[in-house]
Amino acid sequence: MINEETNIQYLKGVGEKRARSLNRLGIFTVGDLLRYYPRAYRDWSKTVSISGAAVGDECCIRAIVDRTPVGVKIRKGLTIFKTDATDGEDIIKIIIYNNKYAAQSLVPGEEYLFYGRIGGNLYQKEMSSPEILKATEQNNIIHPVYPQSYDVNSKYIEKLVRQVFELNPEPCEETLPLRVRESLCLAEINSALKEFHFPSDETYLSEAKHRLIFEELFILQTGLKKLKGASKAESNIIIKNNSENFYSRLPFEPTGAQRRAVKECLTQMGSGMLMNRLLQGDVGSGKTMVAAAVIDSAVRSGYQAVLMAPTEILAAQHYGSLCRFFETTDVKIELLTGSVTAKNKREIKERLLNGDTDVLIGTHAVIQSDVMFKNLGLVITDEQHRFGVKQRNALVEKGNMPHTLVMSATPIPRTLALMIYGDLDISVLDEMPPGRQPIETYCIDSGKRARAYNYVKKHLDEGRQGYIVCPLVEENETLELTAAQEFAAELAGNAFSDYSVGLLHGKMKPKEKEEVMKNFAEGKIQLLVATTVIEVGVDVPNAVIMVVENAERFGLSQLHQLRGRIGRGKYKSTCILISDAHSKTAQSRLKIMSQTTDGFKIADEDLRLRGPGNFFGSQQHGLPDLKIAMLTDTFILKEADSFSQQILSDDYTLSRPENQCLKKAIDKLFEKNKIMN
Ligand code: ADP
Ligand code: MG
Repeated sequence: MINEETNIQYLKGVGEKRARSLNRLGIFTVGDLLRYYPRAYRDWSKTVSISGAAVGDECCIRAIVDRTPVGVKIRKGLTIFKTDATDGEDIIKIIIYNNKYAAQSLVPGEEYLFYGRIGGNLYQKEMSSPEILKATEQNNIIHPVYPQSYDVNSKYIEKLVRQVFELNPEPCEETLPLRVRESLCLAEINSALKEFHFPSDETYLSEAKHRLIFEELFILQTGLKKLKGASKAESNIIIKNNSENFYSRLPFEPTGAQRRAVKECLTQMGSGMLMNRLLQGDVGSGKTMVAAAVIDSAVRSGYQAVLMAPTEILAAQHYGSLCRFFETTDVKIELLTGSVTAKNKREIKERLLNGDTDVLIGTHAVIQSDVMFKNLGLVITDEQHRFGVKQRNALVEKGNMPHTLVMSATPIPRTLALMIYGDLDISVLDEMPPGRQPIETYCIDSGKRARAYNYVKKHLDEGRQGYIVCPLVEENETLELTAAQEFAAELAGNAFSDYSVGLLHGKMKPKEKEEVMKNFAEGKIQLLVATTVIEVGVDVPNAVIMVVENAERFGLSQLHQLRGRIGRGKYKSTCILISDAHSKTAQSRLKIMSQTTDGFKIADEDLRLRGPGNFFGSQQHGLPDLKIAMLTDTFILKEADSFSQQILSDDYTLSRPENQCLKKAIDKLFEKNKIMN
């Protein structure tokens, strides 16, 4: 008997080659297949008349075929079959490409259902390559439509799913404790899955969907809560609060938000509990100062601290900032990156081990096993989404259990933050240091591009620097690369031939990227043409202007991140968004960018407009993909939250028999997504 663990190759119609294609869609087992959800449905029961079908619509038409389609050979390998069909009032042209079998199975005088997109024009509508059913055959069926790949189509997946339920009507184990299901009247797993793939009607479908969304959120919430609980460990690293002394040395007054964040950290670090905290703050909100304040207290309490950044250039920048913050003190700070010579590395490591160095700043290099501390008390990582949750945990579990602070500049909506960083406490910097020149943002169409470029030149002539962000080429890295190269060459050869132009793209090796960024930071490059990879967090205060091509293709949060590269110095900065998209939604989205620079507001709006899947784009967030739940499903999210609270407060380890199913589901989810070690 097959079950959810059964390998997909066991199914009829799945050979080695097909299995590989399915694997690419993340389908390895029968369980994966059943969790490969339809993205839409075709409701064959809802037919429209030919006159009622608008050109461009996808719909189902019930019509009688006029004659057997005649094939016309257009060229080798292309034969087109055409016939007319009528619903008694109007006539629609049915067009079938190459499929002689389908064409000849149409019998004149018989009634069929045609499902497809309406083409042609108002006077002569047509439907190309429709799906066809005899009208008598099925007229009450809602068919699933699955996301397809180039070698796996929706029909094929549908057949496999049907086969599974024929072989075993109950292939999956229940994941929800009975008590939860009963209180919420949720369907049993197998019937929910079956209804979600092959709905009997819309009511059943929405019940099934509710159950699956709840399940997804509930398992994730409960799992994250457990993770967070587990990180509530005790710590014998007690840090004394030295912040007032630190503040008195600063050249500026800390903002209220900075003071609050520092206090939250130090209170926890002095309490005998281990700190595991996320510091969230928009670009420029002053996270580095918070880090420095916390480091200061740790060092005064006799501990060492390490600050880890994702790139060499960021590490070097932090090194510079920290040296300034500790200028008048005897705190010893060192920088360790890949480009330090072997001899120097050896010496740095020596000084760390014997305790001469108080603060180490660096890249990944700092967590290698041969880097040893005398008395490490605090680990800070910057731009946390670059480091996985796993790496973070690996650090904490290194044996010395230091406090950890992760800093992120990605503003995300609160609901989302709770889900993603469920295992961390959160501090937020929601206030900008005073005196910042706000970035002005304008939206223009491509007709004004030349003027925009002149505006850029004017700034370059004044000694400033700028960015031009290339049009986004979707879903094809090779294309994206050539497009970016051509675009940069075009700019360098024409509009900006009198300036030094650099290119930064995603296909570059980290070393090459850093080289370009370094040249830009040093002013050797005046204009940087870039895809979206402009290093997060890189501070080039002299860069004051940014042009974004095809701005409508970017997510708002992404635009906000990009825009954060400018407006970092004393000069007034300008961001110009170029877009020819005239639709109302596109226009109003871009308008938000010119109206606010509040990253959280923008993030909320982005989530509302695009949903969580797109919200993250391809960005790594270390979380399992939500297959079905939208994070805007706040009602179900709350439901899931309160039930997971209840279950965990009764049975934290989930060891009671009735909660075994849940424990198993959580382990499976986290194992699959490697959240934990
Ligand atoms: P981010 O949060 O993006 O890492 P930074 O820590 O790089 O921001 O800070 C941006 C700039 O603001 C730095 O030049 C820093 O010295 C300055 N800054 C930070 N806090 C304050 C403050 N309270 N008042 C004035 N300037 C500040
Ligand atoms: Mg920073």
